[in-house]
Amino acid sequence: MTNTDFSQLSHFVCYAQKRFDLSVLAGCFADARQQPDIPSRAVGLSLVLGEVVHIPSLLQLQQETKLPQWQRWVGYPHSISHDTFGYASERLDPWQLRRAGVWICRKLKRGKAFETNKIAGLLVVSLDANEQFCSDHRCCEDCLSRELTCKDVQGQEFKKTQYYHKQVYAQLSGPELSVILDVEPMRHADPRAKTDAGGGARRTKSGDLGRAFDPLHRRLSRTGSRGPGAGAVDRAQADG
Ligand SMILES: [Zn+2]
Repeated sequence: MTNTDFSQLSHFVCYAQKRFDLSVLAGCFADARQQPDIPSRAVGLSLVLGEVVHIPSLLQLQQETKLPQWQRWVGYPHSISHDTFGYASERLDPWQLRRAGVWICRKLKRGKAFETNKIAGLLVVSLDANEQFCSDHRCCEDCLSRELTCKDVQGQEFKKTQYYHKQVYAQLSGPELSVILDVEPMRHADPRAKTDAGGGARRTKSGDLGRAFDPLHRRLSRTGSRGPGAGAVDRAQADG
């Protein structure tokens, strides 16, 4: 970690503590480990701090946790191994994190942090999909799949199955501050998943696409103190 990173983290922790009670908020990092030696909040906070300064790997994060100042930031007086980060993050409870996210967004909205995001007096939420973990060989029970046509070295066409994960993000975007309001994984039976198979989105009517985002929209309506004024679906992304 550079001196600039260190100084940025110091400011971040100070700001987050003052505005969002970071040490209390860190209680949202509950995980399913039985009687863990290292508290979930120290693991979760370290993951967040690592993300703030873009630490590229869990191995490097392990190195950073040896810093006495880091240990003071996360409230745990020892280093944390990369194995612990991997094991605990696989068992974090996404519902707790989601609740914390809703609380932060409400606080930001009450503090009028989104004023510059407004278009014609309304906050606009955009729905956008992003893909991760593409593989030709490995898959899990939550994977989506698609069939691709490729060419071998002799130029012969062959088909192969590719596995991937994709999530829909609801985001408030603005010139100064953008936040993700909620995220939802696409599933096999999800009508949105058809948009990935064989250019299916081009066969999807815009009304169908709008309805496909309904579950996420309903949850946003339930959890938001007062929801955004308008919505937009990124058609270019959905068609891609
Ligand atoms: Zn998978």
